Formats: sequence, C-alpha cells, structure tokens
Amino acid sequence: MNEIPLEEIQLNVRGALILLDVDGTLTADADYAVSPTARELLSRWGAENRVVLCTNTRDQARRARLAGLFRLPTTSGKYKKPSRKIVTEFVPPVPSKIIVIGDKCLVDGWFAVRIGASFIKSKRLVSGHERWFVKVSYWLDNIIFCIYSWFKNFL
Ligand SMILES: [Mg+2]
Repeated sequence: MNEIPLEEIQLNVRGALILLDVDGTLTADADYAVSPTARELLSRWGAENRVVLCTNTRDQARRARLAGLFRLPTTSGKYKKPSRKIVTEFVPPVPSKIIVIGDKCLVDGWFAVRIGASFIKSKRLVSGHERWFVKVSYWLDNIIFCIYSWFKNFL
C-alpha cells in the first residue's frame, strides 16, 4: 500500500460505490477548500459510479454544507468508520465493487477491510491548523502506516 495524492488517483471503474473520506483526504481537517483538479475528478468518478462522502464528523451542519458544496450524498453520521453498519445506510442494490479512499489506515483502511472493499490510501492534506487531537491521531496513524509499510516487505 502506497499513499497517492488524491488528484493522482486513477480509477478505471464503472458502477462502483466510492466511499470518499473528507477530512485529510478531500479537504484539510475541518476545511472546505478543494482544488479544481479534485473537483473535476469527483465529477468524472461520479458520472459512472456512486460517490458518497464518508466522514466521521459529528458536526451535522458541516455534513450538510459538504453535501451541498460537492453535490454528493454523505453518510448520516449514525455509524462511524470503521463500523460495518455504515453499509446498511445505502439504498440497495449496493454495488458489489466498493472502493474506500481515505488518509487513515486505522479508520479508512480498517473500514475497507471490514466491508470487503478495496482501499486507496490518499496522501494526507494538512493545513497546519489542525486541532491537537487531530494531530495526535495523524501521528498515530503515520506510525502504523510506517510499521505496516516496513513489514509488508517481508510478507
Ligand atoms: Mg480523514
């Protein structure tokens, strides 16, 4: 598993369910700014797939704003990654091909494993203004990612 900047992710799929993380992936934490390239990518992916913003934010106002801004559905927030129950929120038929894109191994990667999805680790977007507990979660996740990357050479 390597990390790829969001703008460089190539998806040649059709009819898939793409669960896209927001904080640290589409935008920096608690931010709304998105590059034009990422916007174009979203519309390209959305033309042939079902793209859902999959965020663990507790802030319902932010969730609604993100949905409006990107014109994409979001998960409800009732369940949080890595809970498998998130999948129960999607209107059937749920595509058999599911792709999770996110910046955290421990949240997005583990979520993908639990629901049998493919995982693409995006290179984390940081603003430098992250809250302390977000920074701590990033450090922890980076450590896990380093250990995983080191060990996978021996597997
Ligand atoms: Mg994230």
